[in-house]
Order: sequence, then structure tokens, then C-alpha cells
Amino acid sequence: MAVEVAISTIKNLLGEGPHWDDQEQKLLFVDILANKVYKWDPVTDQLDSVTLDDTVGAVVPCKKGGYLVGLGRTVAHLDWHSQKVTKLQEIPLNGTKNRFNDAKCDPAGRFWTGSMGHQISTNPNLFEPEKGELYCYGTDGTIKMWVDKVGISNGLVWTQDHRTMYYIDTVPEQVYGFDYNINTGAISNRRVVIDYKNYDDDDCMGRPDGMTSDVDGNLWIANWGFGKIICFDPKTGKKLRTVQIPAMRTTSCCFGGKNLDELYVTCASQGATEEELAAYPMTGSIFKVTGLGVKGLPADVYKG
Ligand code: CA
Repeated sequence: MAVEVAISTIKNLLGEGPHWDDQEQKLLFVDILANKVYKWDPVTDQLDSVTLDDTVGAVVPCKKGGYLVGLGRTVAHLDWHSQKVTKLQEIPLNGTKNRFNDAKCDPAGRFWTGSMGHQISTNPNLFEPEKGELYCYGTDGTIKMWVDKVGISNGLVWTQDHRTMYYIDTVPEQVYGFDYNINTGAISNRRVVIDYKNYDDDDCMGRPDGMTSDVDGNLWIANWGFGKIICFDPKTGKKLRTVQIPAMRTTSCCFGGKNLDELYVTCASQGATEEELAAYPMTGSIFKVTGLGVKGLPADVYKG
């Protein structure tokens, strides 16, 4: 196994939402606090970006062209070439300044996007509590709220049989399982499948942030605050592997590359101290982990 810097030319404030675009063979990701969407070609090393007029929580390609983004409190469509942004839905103000955070599409092409409360200070761990919610933006363009009183909405994954959805609330440090109805998009029977507070080792001292899954059904969870990606079996809660990343503020990960066997990892630099930046000079970069011996699944796109 090897961990290397994939993209060193940018230092993200809050790099997030990595999505391997299987069609274009490019890595999409966002810098939430820089209002930027990035697209990177690993073959040519070309990095393109679009700067929007608000925070951008996540980016997912649309089957019909362009991208869906969580822009501030809106679900919006981005046309890359013209940079035209079309706002499609807006969620209510909750607290003083809630915004969309992580988002993923389910295997039927619905866009699930969660929100979080306003960051109270420059400390990236302080937010207005329980102001987040989880929404589903359907393929018909309607939006429905499914979970309320969320701390920081993160980490969506569906099992290959489409019968379970996994979801993270970073603040209580828990991963939830829901029964999933792929025909209707309905979630039910919420339960805790991983609770970081039950692991008394150093690995789980951080907080669960973004995640992805592999072909074996295991979850790969970015550990905010301690520079680790941890692989769990969600059926047993067993911690299987830990990958150390040379940057403490790891935020999310996805499998990519032509064989879907490389793990791309995003991280943040916001809030890092001088000591931390000296110890981890690649803080804010995009990392790539190779030689894990596992593969991911093609990421789902919006089909509305
Ligand atoms: Ca996140």
C-alpha cells in the first residue's frame, strides 16, 4: 500500500465530496469554503475549476449533462462550459445560516443531500447544533426532507442490493443504517450500525466524516481530525483496516482510476495551526492510496 499526493497544486480550505466520474475518467471534488468545483484528469494532470457565488457542498454529474451541486441552501444545476447556474430548489433557513453539505446519488439516480448549521467561529468544529437535515431531490425535481435535527450531514452509501442506506451524522459520531426502498426512495427503520464512542482505540478519536463503500460491502470512512481512513464491516461493526494520511483534517474518500482500485482522499486546511502545517505540509492536498487490494463501485449519477 502507498499513500501519495495526487494533486499538489491546490491547498483546499475544505476539500470535500470526491466523485470519480466513470464516463469522463476524471475526479470531481469541491472546496466548500472557496465556492469551487474542481475536475481533474489523472492522465494529463489537468485541473479545471468553476467558482460559484456561494458554498458548494458536493458535485454529482447529471446523466443529461452538466452537474448537480448543493449551492448554499439550494440544489442547483451547473453547466460546466458556459458556467451557467440554475437554482432548482431551496430549503428553508434553519438557524442563522444553514447550508448544504455532503451529497450522493442513489442507484436510481435520486440526489440525496444533507445540510448543517452555521459555523459559529473560525473553529471548524463549532456549529449551530442540530440545524442540519437530510433531503432527497427526486428525479422529478421535487425535494423532500427525511431526517431532521442533524448535527453535520455526511457520508451516504447504498448497498449493492439497494436495500440499505448508510448515513453519517458527524456530531454524535455515528453511522446509521436505514432500510431503503429503491422504488420509492423511502427510508425507514433507522438504527446505529457504527458508534465511534464504542471504540476505545486511537483510530476512532476523530469524527466520522465522508465515506464510500467497496465491492465487498465494507465502508471506508474519513476520520476528521486524526488523518485516517478507517474501513469497517457495517454488518458486524468490526474495524478492519486503517490507512494513515499525512494530513490531519481528512474529510472524504472515493474509489477511482480505470480499475476503481485507487482511493482518492480529500482534506481541509481551515483551522490548521502553524505546528500542524509544519508537521503535515501537504495539508489541503488531494491524496491517492494505491495497493489496497480492494475495488470500489461506479458512483451513481443524477438521472432526472
Ligand atoms: Ca463532509
